[in-house]
Amino acid sequence: MHHLIALPALDDNYIWFLRQSDRPGVLVDPGDAEVAIRAMDAGMAVAAILVTHHHGDHVAAIELLQARYGLPVFAPADVRIPGTWQAVADGASIAPAGTDLHFEVMAVPGHTRSHVAYFGAGHLFCGDTLFSLGCGRLFEGSPAQMHASLQRIAQLPANTLICPAHEYTLSNGHFAQHVDPHNAALSVRLAEVSKQRAAGLPSVPTRLHSELQCNPFLRVGEVAIQQAVARHCGAKPTDPVAVFAGLRRWKDEFR
Ligand code: ZN
Ligand code: FE
Repeated sequence: MHHLIALPALDDNYIWFLRQSDRPGVLVDPGDAEVAIRAMDAGMAVAAILVTHHHGDHVAAIELLQARYGLPVFAPADVRIPGTWQAVADGASIAPAGTDLHFEVMAVPGHTRSHVAYFGAGHLFCGDTLFSLGCGRLFEGSPAQMHASLQRIAQLPANTLICPAHEYTLSNGHFAQHVDPHNAALSVRLAEVSKQRAAGLPSVPTRLHSELQCNPFLRVGEVAIQQAVARHCGAKPTDPVAVFAGLRRWKDEFR
């Protein structure tokens, strides 16, 4: 039996906590020390920290949590990540001591060059790579890299629970609907998300099969998305990477 908690942090981040049965668990991307410490002091048993990428809203609490609780940290090899960590790379399997969990590490460059995701116990912690109904901005990677990263995620089991690091679903959804207005699954999902958000509930985790039906960034092979990008750009994109690149640029400019 797995137990998953989304701790809201900063403006729109989630710090994820996952444990198996009654064993201690892992904390993912602690960007807010106050939130993490409050939860841990209230009894949330954390045995290790997993880090997806170096941005401050994902790593700011690492050093404080290490000093206070002596926690091991798993992170991609990037000197911009603070604290002391055990470097993980694509294809690695990790089993944090004290937990009943193991994860496979996937390199998912695009948002940043050293971004990784952790897949384990049917959950994917994907940081700022895949969001519900959207994807991360390309700060350091190319469209080809991000597209390849998203396509790797798309190959995971369809019932995988996608655990992204931000609550961006509603604004992503408005763009998705603008691009893909006749997508019935997307309309259903957006109605559900509106209700969840109005009730103050997180819109994530979300199942991969839902994202495959609704998220335009995973659907660049679909004619509807290709045609929308072609109309927006005024030229027919020649391959899926070009569709993805056009879509990502469109989203960057969308208000
Ligand atoms: Zn980021
Ligand atoms: Fe972030």
